[in-house]
Amino acid sequence: MIILCLASCKQELKKPNILFIMSDDHAYQAISAYDDKLIETPNIDRIANEGILFSNASVTNSICAPSRATILTGKFSHINGKVDNIFPFDTSQVTFPQLFQKAGYQTAMFGKLHFGNNPKGVDDFLILPGQGHYINPIFIGKEKDTVITGYVTDIITDLTIDWFEKKRDESKPFLMMYLHKAPHRAWWPSPEKFEEFYNKTFPEPETLFDDYSNRASAASSAEMNILKHMHLMQDNKVYPKTIEEMGNLVEDITYTGEDRGVRKANAGPFNRPFNRANKEQKKLYDKVLQKISSDFKENWPKMNDIEKTKWKYQRYMQDYLATISSVDDNVGRVLDYLEENNLSDNTIVVYTSDQGFYLGEHGWYDKRFIYNESFKTPLLIKWPNKIKPGITNDEMVQNLDFAQTFLEAAGIESPSDMQGESLLPLLLQNNEKWTRDAVYYHYYEYPSVHMVKRHYGIVSKEYKLVHYYYDIDEWELFDRKNDPKELNNLYSDVNYQKVVLEMKERLSELRLKYKDSDELSKKFIY
Ligand code: CA
Repeated sequence: MIILCLASCKQELKKPNILFIMSDDHAYQAISAYDDKLIETPNIDRIANEGILFSNASVTNSICAPSRATILTGKFSHINGKVDNIFPFDTSQVTFPQLFQKAGYQTAMFGKLHFGNNPKGVDDFLILPGQGHYINPIFIGKEKDTVITGYVTDIITDLTIDWFEKKRDESKPFLMMYLHKAPHRAWWPSPEKFEEFYNKTFPEPETLFDDYSNRASAASSAEMNILKHMHLMQDNKVYPKTIEEMGNLVEDITYTGEDRGVRKANAGPFNRPFNRANKEQKKLYDKVLQKISSDFKENWPKMNDIEKTKWKYQRYMQDYLATISSVDDNVGRVLDYLEENNLSDNTIVVYTSDQGFYLGEHGWYDKRFIYNESFKTPLLIKWPNKIKPGITNDEMVQNLDFAQTFLEAAGIESPSDMQGESLLPLLLQNNEKWTRDAVYYHYYEYPSVHMVKRHYGIVSKEYKLVHYYYDIDEWELFDRKNDPKELNNLYSDVNYQKVVLEMKERLSELRLKYKDSDELSKKFIY
Protein backbone atom coordinates (compact mmCIF):
# COMPACT_ATOMS: atom_id res chain seq x y z
CA MET A 1 0.00 0.00 0.00
CA ILE A 2 2.64 2.45 1.11
CA ILE A 3 4.88 1.59 -1.82
CA LEU A 4 2.01 2.08 -4.28
CA CYS A 5 1.19 5.48 -2.87
CA LEU A 6 4.81 6.52 -2.89
CA ALA A 7 5.14 5.51 -6.53
CA SER A 8 2.03 7.33 -7.70
CA CYS A 9 2.63 10.37 -5.51
CA LYS A 10 6.17 10.61 -6.79
CA GLN A 11 4.93 10.51 -10.35
CA GLU A 12 2.53 13.38 -9.64
CA LEU A 13 5.30 15.37 -7.98
CA LYS A 14 7.42 15.07 -11.09
CA LYS A 15 5.00 17.24 -13.04
CA PRO A 16 6.31 20.76 -12.73
CA ASN A 17 4.17 23.63 -11.52
CA ILE A 18 4.03 26.60 -13.87
CA LEU A 19 3.92 30.21 -12.74
CA PHE A 20 3.32 32.37 -15.81
CA ILE A 21 3.95 36.05 -15.03
CA MET A 22 3.01 38.53 -17.73
CA SER A 23 2.93 42.32 -17.61
CA ASP A 24 1.22 44.57 -20.11
CA ASP A 25 3.54 46.67 -22.30
CA HIS A 26 6.72 45.99 -20.30
CA ALA A 27 9.66 46.99 -22.52
CA TYR A 28 12.86 44.92 -22.20
CA GLN A 29 14.67 48.29 -21.91
CA ALA A 30 13.04 48.58 -18.48
CA ILE A 31 14.38 45.29 -17.07
CA SER A 32 17.89 45.55 -15.67
CA ALA A 33 18.73 41.99 -16.72
CA TYR A 34 18.49 43.37 -20.29
CA ASP A 35 19.54 46.98 -19.78
CA ASP A 36 20.17 48.87 -16.54
CA LYS A 37 20.23 52.41 -17.94
CA LEU A 38 16.69 53.22 -16.80
CA ILE A 39 15.83 51.08 -13.79
CA GLU A 40 17.00 48.30 -11.50
CA THR A 41 14.57 45.37 -11.33
CA PRO A 42 16.33 43.05 -8.86
CA ASN A 43 13.39 40.66 -8.46
CA ILE A 44 12.62 40.10 -12.13
CA ASP A 45 16.38 39.73 -12.59
CA ARG A 46 16.34 36.86 -10.08
CA ILE A 47 14.53 34.78 -12.73
CA ALA A 48 17.31 35.49 -15.24
CA ASN A 49 20.07 34.90 -12.69
CA GLU A 50 18.60 31.55 -11.73
CA GLY A 51 17.61 30.62 -15.29
CA ILE A 52 17.66 31.70 -18.91
CA LEU A 53 17.29 35.10 -20.61
CA PHE A 54 16.14 35.17 -24.25
CA SER A 55 17.72 38.15 -26.02
CA ASN A 56 15.82 37.67 -29.29
CA ALA A 57 12.32 36.80 -28.09
CA SER A 58 9.57 38.49 -30.10
CA VAL A 59 5.83 38.62 -30.66
CA THR A 60 3.95 37.72 -33.86
CA ASN A 61 1.77 40.86 -33.70
CA SER A 62 2.74 43.65 -31.31
CA ILE A 63 -0.55 44.56 -29.66
CA CYS A 64 -2.27 43.46 -26.46
CA ALA A 65 -5.23 41.16 -27.10
CA PRO A 66 -3.79 39.52 -30.26
CA SER A 67 -0.61 38.65 -28.35
CA ARG A 68 -2.66 37.08 -25.57
CA ALA A 69 -4.66 35.09 -28.14
CA THR A 70 -1.43 33.84 -29.72
CA ILE A 71 -0.02 32.85 -26.33
CA LEU A 72 -3.18 30.96 -25.34
CA THR A 73 -3.78 29.18 -28.67
CA GLY A 74 -0.22 28.70 -29.96
CA LYS A 75 -1.41 30.10 -33.30
CA PHE A 76 -0.81 33.21 -35.40
CA SER A 77 -3.44 35.97 -35.45
CA HIS A 78 -4.60 35.07 -38.96
CA ILE A 79 -5.41 31.53 -37.77
CA ASN A 80 -6.92 32.26 -34.31
CA GLY A 81 -8.82 35.25 -35.77
CA LYS A 82 -7.86 37.75 -33.03
CA VAL A 83 -5.92 40.01 -35.39
CA ASP A 84 -6.43 43.25 -33.44
CA ASN A 85 -8.11 44.66 -30.34
CA ILE A 86 -11.37 44.98 -32.32
CA PHE A 87 -11.98 41.59 -34.00
CA PRO A 88 -13.58 39.17 -31.48
CA PHE A 89 -11.86 36.05 -30.15
CA ASP A 90 -13.62 32.81 -31.06
CA THR A 91 -14.02 31.23 -27.64
CA SER A 92 -14.63 27.75 -29.06
CA GLN A 93 -10.88 27.48 -29.71
CA VAL A 94 -8.65 25.34 -27.53
CA THR A 95 -6.38 27.32 -25.19
CA PHE A 96 -3.47 25.75 -23.32
CA PRO A 97 -4.94 26.20 -19.78
CA GLN A 98 -7.86 23.97 -20.85
CA LEU A 99 -5.36 21.22 -21.72
CA PHE A 100 -3.63 21.62 -18.35
CA GLN A 101 -6.96 21.43 -16.55
CA LYS A 102 -7.89 18.26 -18.44
CA ALA A 103 -4.53 16.72 -17.61
CA GLY A 104 -5.16 17.10 -13.87
CA TYR A 105 -3.48 20.40 -13.16
CA GLN A 106 -5.06 22.87 -10.76
CA THR A 107 -5.38 26.10 -12.73
CA ALA A 108 -5.93 29.73 -11.75
CA MET A 109 -5.75 33.20 -13.30
CA PHE A 110 -5.49 36.59 -11.59
CA GLY A 111 -5.20 40.02 -13.20
CA LYS A 112 -5.53 41.30 -16.71
CA LEU A 113 -6.73 39.06 -19.53
CA HIS A 114 -8.12 41.78 -21.84
CA PHE A 115 -10.17 39.47 -23.99
CA GLY A 116 -13.74 40.62 -23.63
CA ASN A 117 -14.77 37.24 -22.26
CA ASN A 118 -14.04 35.05 -19.27
CA PRO A 119 -11.12 32.63 -19.35
CA LYS A 120 -11.67 28.97 -20.10
CA GLY A 121 -9.76 26.16 -18.45
CA VAL A 122 -9.13 27.87 -15.11
CA ASP A 123 -10.58 26.55 -11.83
CA ASP A 124 -10.39 29.97 -10.17
CA PHE A 125 -10.10 33.45 -11.55
CA LEU A 126 -10.53 37.13 -10.80
CA ILE A 127 -9.81 39.27 -13.85
CA LEU A 128 -10.00 42.97 -14.66
CA PRO A 129 -12.75 43.98 -17.07
CA GLY A 130 -11.09 45.11 -20.34
CA GLN A 131 -8.19 47.42 -19.56
CA GLY A 132 -9.17 47.53 -15.87
CA HIS A 133 -8.34 50.24 -13.36
CA TYR A 134 -5.09 51.11 -11.60
CA ILE A 135 -6.83 52.44 -8.48
CA ASN A 136 -9.47 50.55 -6.47
CA PRO A 137 -10.07 48.16 -9.39
CA ILE A 138 -13.17 46.14 -10.21
CA PHE A 139 -12.60 42.40 -10.72
CA ILE A 140 -14.82 39.96 -12.61
CA GLY A 141 -15.15 36.68 -10.74
CA LYS A 142 -16.88 33.38 -11.33
CA GLU A 143 -19.84 34.31 -9.19
CA LYS A 144 -19.82 38.08 -8.86
CA ASP A 145 -17.86 41.23 -9.56
CA THR A 146 -16.02 42.86 -6.71
CA VAL A 147 -14.21 46.17 -6.10
CA ILE A 148 -10.99 45.91 -4.11
CA THR A 149 -9.50 48.99 -2.47
CA GLY A 150 -5.84 49.66 -3.19
CA TYR A 151 -3.32 49.68 -6.03
CA VAL A 152 -3.87 47.15 -8.81
CA THR A 153 -0.37 45.60 -8.90
CA ASP A 154 -0.39 44.96 -5.14
CA ILE A 155 -3.93 43.54 -5.30
CA ILE A 156 -3.27 41.10 -8.16
CA THR A 157 -0.32 39.81 -6.11
CA ASP A 158 -2.40 39.56 -2.92
CA LEU A 159 -5.00 37.51 -4.83
CA THR A 160 -2.30 35.22 -6.23
CA ILE A 161 -0.61 34.59 -2.87
CA ASP A 162 -3.98 34.21 -1.18
CA TRP A 163 -4.89 31.49 -3.70
CA PHE A 164 -1.61 29.67 -2.98
CA GLU A 165 -2.32 29.83 0.75
CA LYS A 166 -5.98 28.93 0.82
CA LYS A 167 -6.92 27.15 -2.37
CA ARG A 168 -3.91 25.21 -3.61
CA ASP A 169 -4.51 21.48 -3.70
CA GLU A 170 -1.18 19.98 -2.66
CA SER A 171 -1.96 16.70 -4.40
CA LYS A 172 -1.96 18.39 -7.81
CA PRO A 173 0.55 20.43 -9.82
CA PHE A 174 -0.59 23.99 -10.58
CA LEU A 175 -0.69 26.36 -13.51
CA MET A 176 -0.89 29.93 -12.21
CA MET A 177 -1.45 32.81 -14.65
CA TYR A 178 -0.37 35.94 -12.73
CA LEU A 179 -1.08 38.82 -15.11
CA HIS A 180 -0.28 42.45 -14.41
CA LYS A 181 -2.09 45.45 -15.85
CA ALA A 182 0.98 47.63 -15.31
CA PRO A 183 2.80 49.29 -16.98
CA HIS A 184 0.00 49.92 -19.54
CA ARG A 185 -0.91 53.49 -20.44
CA ALA A 186 -1.86 55.82 -18.72
CA TRP A 187 0.94 54.71 -16.34
CA TRP A 188 -0.61 55.47 -12.93
CA PRO A 189 1.85 54.55 -10.17
CA SER A 190 1.02 53.83 -6.56
CA PRO A 191 1.09 57.09 -4.51
CA GLU A 192 4.44 56.13 -2.90
CA LYS A 193 6.16 55.31 -6.20
CA PHE A 194 4.61 58.40 -7.82
CA GLU A 195 6.39 60.56 -5.27
CA GLU A 196 9.64 58.61 -5.40
CA PHE A 197 9.96 58.60 -9.20
CA TYR A 198 8.85 62.21 -9.71
CA ASN A 199 12.20 63.23 -8.26
CA LYS A 200 14.23 61.15 -10.72
CA THR A 201 15.72 62.12 -14.09
CA PHE A 202 16.29 59.50 -16.80
CA PRO A 203 18.73 59.32 -19.72
CA GLU A 204 17.22 59.97 -23.14
CA PRO A 205 17.42 57.42 -25.95
CA GLU A 206 19.65 58.39 -28.89
CA THR A 207 16.72 58.45 -31.30
CA LEU A 208 14.36 60.66 -29.23
CA PHE A 209 14.47 63.29 -32.00
CA ASP A 210 14.22 60.89 -34.94
CA ASP A 211 13.07 62.70 -38.10
CA TYR A 212 11.90 59.44 -39.77
CA SER A 213 14.00 60.04 -42.88
CA ASN A 214 15.31 56.96 -44.74
CA ARG A 215 12.28 54.95 -43.67
CA ALA A 216 8.99 53.95 -45.33
CA SER A 217 6.25 56.55 -44.83
CA ALA A 218 4.60 54.51 -42.04
CA ALA A 219 7.10 55.80 -39.46
CA SER A 220 6.28 59.48 -40.05
CA SER A 221 2.52 59.01 -40.37
CA ALA A 222 2.16 57.07 -37.09
CA GLU A 223 0.53 59.01 -34.25
CA MET A 224 2.60 58.00 -31.25
CA ASN A 225 5.14 60.80 -31.04
CA ILE A 226 5.84 61.99 -27.51
CA LEU A 227 5.73 65.68 -28.45
CA LYS A 228 2.83 65.59 -30.89
CA HIS A 229 0.52 62.89 -29.55
CA MET A 230 1.09 62.21 -25.86
CA HIS A 231 -1.74 63.73 -23.80
CA LEU A 232 -0.71 66.45 -21.37
CA MET A 233 -3.60 65.60 -19.04
CA GLN A 234 -4.18 61.87 -19.09
CA ASP A 235 -0.57 60.85 -19.81
CA ASN A 236 1.59 63.60 -18.31
CA LYS A 237 -0.97 64.21 -15.55
CA VAL A 238 -1.25 67.98 -15.71
CA TYR A 239 -4.52 69.00 -14.00
CA PRO A 240 -7.29 69.70 -16.55
CA LYS A 241 -8.00 72.95 -14.68
CA THR A 242 -4.37 74.08 -15.21
CA ILE A 243 -4.64 73.48 -18.96
CA GLU A 244 -7.92 75.37 -18.97
CA GLU A 245 -6.47 78.31 -17.04
CA MET A 246 -3.55 78.54 -19.45
CA GLY A 247 -5.88 78.86 -22.44
CA ASN A 248 -4.02 79.37 -25.70
CA LEU A 249 -0.62 79.00 -24.03
CA VAL A 250 -1.17 75.25 -24.54
CA GLU A 251 -1.36 73.92 -28.11
CA ASP A 252 -4.10 71.54 -29.20
CA ILE A 253 -3.02 67.98 -29.84
CA THR A 254 -4.80 66.52 -32.85
CA TYR A 255 -5.31 62.96 -33.99
CA THR A 256 -6.96 61.17 -36.81
CA GLY A 257 -6.69 57.68 -35.35
CA GLU A 258 -8.28 58.09 -31.97
CA ASP A 259 -11.78 58.61 -33.37
CA ARG A 260 -11.79 55.25 -35.08
CA GLY A 261 -13.66 53.09 -32.67
CA VAL A 262 -11.01 51.99 -30.21
CA ARG A 263 -10.69 55.28 -28.34
CA LYS A 264 -12.45 53.77 -25.34
CA ALA A 265 -10.12 50.80 -25.36
CA ASN A 266 -7.15 53.06 -24.89
CA ALA A 267 -6.32 55.03 -21.77
CA GLY A 268 -9.21 57.02 -20.43
CA PRO A 269 -9.22 60.74 -19.70
CA PHE A 270 -7.22 62.09 -16.78
CA ASN A 271 -10.19 62.07 -14.48
CA ARG A 272 -11.08 58.42 -14.82
CA PRO A 273 -8.27 56.76 -12.86
CA PHE A 274 -7.86 59.69 -10.50
CA ASN A 275 -11.56 59.92 -9.72
CA ARG A 276 -11.53 56.31 -8.56
CA ALA A 277 -9.19 57.28 -5.72
CA ASN A 278 -10.74 57.83 -2.30
CA LYS A 279 -10.13 61.00 -0.28
CA GLU A 280 -7.06 59.65 1.44
CA GLN A 281 -5.51 58.35 -1.79
CA LYS A 282 -6.32 61.62 -3.61
CA LYS A 283 -4.49 63.57 -0.95
CA LEU A 284 -1.36 61.50 -1.54
CA TYR A 285 -1.58 61.81 -5.33
CA ASP A 286 -2.31 65.54 -5.10
CA LYS A 287 1.04 66.15 -3.40
CA VAL A 288 2.78 65.20 -6.67
CA LEU A 289 0.08 66.34 -9.08
CA GLN A 290 0.31 69.87 -7.71
CA LYS A 291 4.07 69.94 -8.31
CA ILE A 292 3.60 68.71 -11.89
CA SER A 293 0.98 71.32 -12.65
CA SER A 294 2.83 74.25 -11.12
CA ASP A 295 6.03 73.28 -12.95
CA PHE A 296 4.04 72.97 -16.18
CA LYS A 297 2.32 76.32 -15.73
CA GLU A 298 5.54 78.13 -15.05
CA ASN A 299 7.82 76.53 -17.64
CA TRP A 300 5.78 75.19 -20.57
CA PRO A 301 5.11 78.56 -22.23
CA LYS A 302 8.87 79.29 -22.28
CA MET A 303 9.90 76.00 -23.88
CA ASN A 304 10.75 75.25 -27.50
CA ASP A 305 9.79 71.92 -29.10
CA ILE A 306 13.02 70.21 -28.06
CA GLU A 307 12.54 71.25 -24.43
CA LYS A 308 8.87 70.24 -24.54
CA THR A 309 9.81 66.80 -25.85
CA LYS A 310 12.37 66.42 -23.07
CA TRP A 311 9.85 67.53 -20.43
CA LYS A 312 7.19 65.10 -21.66
CA TYR A 313 9.76 62.28 -21.93
CA GLN A 314 10.82 62.73 -18.28
CA ARG A 315 7.18 62.81 -17.12
CA TYR A 316 6.52 59.65 -19.17
CA MET A 317 9.53 57.78 -17.79
CA GLN A 318 8.85 58.84 -14.20
CA ASP A 319 5.36 57.31 -14.31
CA TYR A 320 6.08 54.31 -16.55
CA LEU A 321 9.10 53.23 -14.50
CA ALA A 322 7.29 53.87 -11.20
CA THR A 323 4.66 51.31 -12.24
CA ILE A 324 7.48 48.88 -13.18
CA SER A 325 9.04 49.32 -9.76
CA SER A 326 5.79 48.10 -8.17
CA VAL A 327 5.67 45.12 -10.54
CA ASP A 328 9.23 44.24 -9.55
CA ASP A 329 8.52 44.47 -5.80
CA ASN A 330 5.47 42.28 -6.22
CA VAL A 331 7.20 39.67 -8.37
CA GLY A 332 9.68 39.48 -5.48
CA ARG A 333 6.84 38.77 -3.04
CA VAL A 334 5.63 35.83 -5.15
CA LEU A 335 9.13 34.42 -5.68
CA ASP A 336 9.71 34.68 -1.91
CA TYR A 337 6.45 32.87 -1.26
CA LEU A 338 7.50 29.99 -3.52
CA GLU A 339 10.88 29.76 -1.78
CA GLU A 340 9.50 29.94 1.74
CA ASN A 341 6.97 27.22 0.96
CA ASN A 342 9.37 24.82 -0.74
CA LEU A 343 7.66 25.28 -4.08
CA SER A 344 10.60 26.80 -5.93
CA ASP A 345 12.39 23.61 -6.92
CA ASN A 346 9.52 22.14 -8.89
CA THR A 347 8.12 25.34 -10.38
CA ILE A 348 8.85 26.78 -13.81
CA VAL A 349 8.70 30.56 -13.48
CA VAL A 350 8.23 32.58 -16.66
CA TYR A 351 8.40 36.37 -16.89
CA THR A 352 7.28 38.06 -20.10
CA SER A 353 5.20 40.90 -21.52
CA ASP A 354 2.47 40.81 -24.16
CA GLN A 355 4.85 42.87 -26.30
CA GLY A 356 7.60 45.45 -26.10
CA PHE A 357 7.16 49.22 -25.98
CA TYR A 358 8.87 52.41 -27.15
CA LEU A 359 10.46 54.34 -24.31
CA GLY A 360 11.21 57.38 -26.43
CA GLU A 361 13.10 55.49 -29.17
CA HIS A 362 12.17 57.08 -32.53
CA GLY A 363 10.46 59.78 -30.45
CA TRP A 364 7.68 57.31 -29.64
CA TYR A 365 5.57 55.75 -26.94
CA ASP A 366 3.27 52.74 -27.67
CA LYS A 367 4.05 49.63 -29.75
CA ARG A 368 2.60 47.99 -32.96
CA PHE A 369 5.64 48.28 -35.29
CA ILE A 370 7.98 45.46 -36.26
CA TYR A 371 10.85 47.79 -35.26
CA ASN A 372 12.88 46.29 -32.45
CA GLU A 373 11.56 47.91 -29.28
CA SER A 374 7.99 46.72 -29.78
CA PHE A 375 8.74 43.56 -31.77
CA LYS A 376 11.01 42.22 -29.04
CA THR A 377 9.53 41.13 -25.75
CA PRO A 378 11.25 40.20 -22.48
CA LEU A 379 11.42 36.47 -21.80
CA LEU A 380 13.04 35.04 -18.68
CA ILE A 381 12.50 31.48 -17.47
CA LYS A 382 13.79 29.61 -14.44
CA TRP A 383 13.38 25.92 -13.66
CA PRO A 384 15.77 24.79 -10.93
CA ASN A 385 17.84 21.68 -11.67
CA LYS A 386 16.70 21.73 -15.30
CA ILE A 387 17.72 25.14 -16.68
CA LYS A 388 21.29 26.15 -15.88
CA PRO A 389 21.44 29.40 -13.95
CA GLY A 390 22.49 32.60 -15.70
CA ILE A 391 22.42 31.57 -19.34
CA THR A 392 21.53 33.82 -22.28
CA ASN A 393 20.05 32.53 -25.51
CA ASP A 394 19.83 34.54 -28.75
CA GLU A 395 17.64 32.25 -30.86
CA MET A 396 14.58 33.68 -32.64
CA VAL A 397 11.84 32.52 -30.30
CA GLN A 398 8.30 33.88 -30.12
CA ASN A 399 5.23 34.12 -27.92
CA LEU A 400 3.80 31.64 -30.45
CA ASP A 401 6.00 28.99 -28.80
CA PHE A 402 4.85 29.39 -25.20
CA ALA A 403 1.87 26.99 -25.26
CA GLN A 404 3.83 24.09 -26.74
CA THR A 405 6.74 24.76 -24.37
CA PHE A 406 4.55 24.57 -21.27
CA LEU A 407 2.66 21.55 -22.58
CA GLU A 408 5.86 19.63 -23.32
CA ALA A 409 7.35 20.54 -19.94
CA ALA A 410 4.21 19.16 -18.30
CA GLY A 411 4.21 16.01 -20.41
CA ILE A 412 0.92 16.94 -22.11
CA GLU A 413 0.53 16.36 -25.83
CA SER A 414 0.16 19.51 -27.97
CA PRO A 415 -2.63 19.69 -30.56
CA SER A 416 -1.10 19.14 -34.01
CA ASP A 417 -2.48 22.43 -35.38
CA MET A 418 -0.50 24.62 -32.96
CA GLN A 419 2.06 26.58 -34.99
CA GLY A 420 4.94 27.19 -32.58
CA GLU A 421 7.83 25.06 -31.41
CA SER A 422 8.56 23.93 -27.90
CA LEU A 423 11.49 25.85 -26.39
CA LEU A 424 12.44 22.84 -24.28
CA PRO A 425 15.58 22.01 -26.31
CA LEU A 426 16.82 25.57 -25.70
CA LEU A 427 15.88 25.51 -22.03
CA LEU A 428 17.81 22.27 -21.58
CA GLN A 429 20.69 23.49 -23.76
CA ASN A 430 20.18 21.00 -26.55
CA ASN A 431 20.54 23.92 -28.94
CA GLU A 432 21.46 21.74 -31.91
CA LYS A 433 17.86 20.52 -31.98
CA TRP A 434 16.62 24.05 -32.72
CA THR A 435 16.45 24.74 -36.47
CA ARG A 436 14.39 27.93 -36.87
CA ASP A 437 16.43 30.78 -38.36
CA ALA A 438 13.76 33.45 -38.96
CA VAL A 439 10.36 34.50 -37.64
CA TYR A 440 7.18 35.90 -39.17
CA TYR A 441 5.27 39.01 -38.08
CA HIS A 442 1.93 40.53 -39.11
CA TYR A 443 0.26 43.68 -37.71
CA TYR A 444 -3.33 44.59 -38.66
CA GLU A 445 -4.91 47.32 -36.54
CA TYR A 446 -5.27 50.15 -39.10
CA PRO A 447 -6.93 52.56 -39.55
CA SER A 448 -7.17 52.97 -35.81
CA VAL A 449 -5.66 54.59 -32.76
CA HIS A 450 -1.98 55.57 -33.38
CA MET A 451 -2.42 55.07 -37.15
CA VAL A 452 0.34 52.48 -37.62
CA LYS A 453 0.00 51.06 -41.15
CA ARG A 454 -0.71 47.37 -41.67
CA HIS A 455 2.47 45.43 -42.30
CA TYR A 456 4.02 42.00 -42.31
CA GLY A 457 7.62 40.88 -42.44
CA ILE A 458 10.39 38.42 -41.75
CA VAL A 459 13.12 38.81 -39.16
CA SER A 460 16.35 36.81 -39.02
CA LYS A 461 19.32 37.50 -36.79
CA GLU A 462 20.89 39.45 -39.67
CA TYR A 463 18.03 41.16 -41.52
CA LYS A 464 14.51 42.47 -41.25
CA LEU A 465 12.31 42.77 -44.35
CA VAL A 466 8.96 44.55 -44.01
CA HIS A 467 6.03 45.10 -46.37
CA TYR A 468 3.52 47.89 -45.60
CA TYR A 469 0.20 47.38 -47.40
CA TYR A 470 -3.52 48.27 -47.36
CA ASP A 471 -3.36 51.93 -48.43
CA ILE A 472 0.37 52.02 -49.28
CA ASP A 473 2.76 49.58 -50.91
CA GLU A 474 6.22 50.15 -49.43
CA TRP A 475 9.08 47.95 -48.30
CA GLU A 476 11.88 48.24 -45.77
CA LEU A 477 15.06 46.24 -45.30
CA PHE A 478 17.26 46.70 -42.26
CA ASP A 479 20.72 45.30 -41.63
CA ARG A 480 20.29 44.38 -37.97
CA LYS A 481 23.98 43.95 -37.21
CA ASN A 482 25.18 47.21 -38.80
CA ASP A 483 22.11 49.30 -38.04
CA PRO A 484 20.65 48.03 -34.75
CA LYS A 485 18.66 51.26 -34.24
CA GLU A 486 16.92 50.67 -37.59
CA LEU A 487 17.43 54.11 -39.10
CA ASN A 488 18.45 53.19 -42.66
CA ASN A 489 16.06 51.46 -45.01
CA LEU A 490 18.28 49.53 -47.45
CA TYR A 491 15.47 48.18 -49.62
CA SER A 492 16.57 50.21 -52.65
CA ASP A 493 20.31 50.11 -51.92
CA VAL A 494 22.15 48.53 -54.86
CA ASN A 495 24.46 46.62 -52.53
CA TYR A 496 21.57 44.84 -50.85
CA GLN A 497 19.52 43.65 -53.84
CA LYS A 498 20.67 40.06 -53.43
CA VAL A 499 19.64 40.16 -49.77
CA VAL A 500 16.25 41.65 -50.69
CA LEU A 501 15.56 38.83 -53.15
CA GLU A 502 16.69 36.17 -50.70
CA MET A 503 14.64 37.59 -47.84
CA LYS A 504 11.57 37.93 -50.08
CA GLU A 505 11.84 34.27 -50.95
CA ARG A 506 12.20 33.29 -47.31
CA LEU A 507 9.24 35.51 -46.43
CA SER A 508 7.07 33.71 -49.03
CA GLU A 509 8.15 30.38 -47.60
CA LEU A 510 7.19 31.46 -44.07
CA ARG A 511 3.81 32.77 -45.24
CA LEU A 512 3.16 29.44 -46.89
CA LYS A 513 4.33 27.48 -43.86
CA TYR A 514 2.13 29.47 -41.47
CA LYS A 515 -0.80 29.62 -43.94
CA ASP A 516 -0.96 33.41 -44.33
CA SER A 517 -1.74 35.10 -47.66
CA ASP A 518 -2.96 38.36 -49.23
CA GLU A 519 -6.30 36.65 -49.77
CA LEU A 520 -6.61 35.87 -46.04
CA SER A 521 -5.58 39.43 -45.09
CA LYS A 522 -8.63 40.74 -46.99
CA LYS A 523 -10.85 38.89 -44.51
CA PHE A 524 -9.58 41.22 -41.77
CA ILE A 525 -10.18 44.53 -43.55
CA TYR A 526 -12.75 46.99 -42.19
CA1 CA B 1 0.05 45.20 -24.17
